[in-house]
Amino acid sequence: MVAETMDIKITRKADSGSVKLDWDNLTFGRVFSDHMFVMEYSDGEWTNPEISEYADLVLSPATSVLHYGQSFFEGMKAYRTSSGEVQLFRPEENAKRFNVSARRMCMPEVPVDVFIESLKSLIEIDKEWVPKKDGCALYVRPFMIATDPYVGIKPSGTYKFIIFTCPVGAYYSEPVKVKIETEYSRAVKGGTGFAKAAGNYAGALYPAKIAQEKGYGQLIWTDAFEHKYIEEAGTMNVIFQIGDTLITPVSSDTILASITRRSVVDIARDWGYKVEERKVLVSEVIEAIGAGTLTEAFGAGTAATIAQISLINCDGLDYDLPPVENRAFSNKVKLELENIKYGKIEDRFNWMLKV
Ligand SMILES: *Cc1c(COP(=O)(O)O)cnc(C)c1O
Repeated sequence: MVAETMDIKITRKADSGSVKLDWDNLTFGRVFSDHMFVMEYSDGEWTNPEISEYADLVLSPATSVLHYGQSFFEGMKAYRTSSGEVQLFRPEENAKRFNVSARRMCMPEVPVDVFIESLKSLIEIDKEWVPKKDGCALYVRPFMIATDPYVGIKPSGTYKFIIFTCPVGAYYSEPVKVKIETEYSRAVKGGTGFAKAAGNYAGALYPAKIAQEKGYGQLIWTDAFEHKYIEEAGTMNVIFQIGDTLITPVSSDTILASITRRSVVDIARDWGYKVEERKVLVSEVIEAIGAGTLTEAFGAGTAATIAQISLINCDGLDYDLPPVENRAFSNKVKLELENIKYGKIEDRFNWMLKV
């Protein structure tokens, strides 16, 4: 299938739910736009692309995704500019990462142009659902599931590629206290950590819950072998500033390659900051806190853009980090990214795609 010949069957919902929405009190992920996109895979090809009313799926209890988790997703946002246009942030990067996940999960790829065309068509139809207020956005959730009604363990022969969207409010997060995890692991070398595979998130829930019971909002994941190197912060990549240098764990097969993190690095380099993408020792971060040279620590991801870390727990000890107000780089880069996304400054990296 190629985008030019894609013939999406469209069935519009009679009257839009957007008029009844409480736009001033948007939360995350519980209210869905009118329509969804569904495309089916069988006999080695994608067929029946369709946009219709958002509705429940009907699945056999034997459906393989429900048992063996052959499933993965993407997460991205569409933003409304002050002139009323709607635009996506680097959607081709999501499309490429979608296929990286697909390959690892033994699932069919969706051609990048088909992925983009599907996204644009769906958002176009539900344009009214893209919030008009600054800081708010339309969250977009593309995903794929294995749909063979078969309980044997093998790659499914049939799949569904689905996209739905939800209007979301401005994501304000209190600076978060994090615990460096040294018992459980999110990902291992040779595993699925670099894919947005559903099972990765299920496996992370229990360790995160234990940390939350102790008062830590997130985990800092470390390498599964020695728990010596920092990998990610919850479901975000992580960046530190030590002295005049930004330091961030290099993307590998245990780290999900965040598009936000890469964009932060691109902007930092453009501004002339020194950036090191490499293995980051837990010990060097703790030593830098002690020496007073660590000035910034934050997570990077689509949901929050930048999520400040206020405290790090390591081996039973709590280390307070410098006040968030003093963090020149992360505050500045957050604003810069938002200005690009909402079309308030020139898109000098050519990141935005108009719907
Ligand atoms: C999605 C995700 C991220 C963030 O990626 P973005 O492209 O910046 O949204 C980071 N880590 C994990 C584990 C993720 O699933």
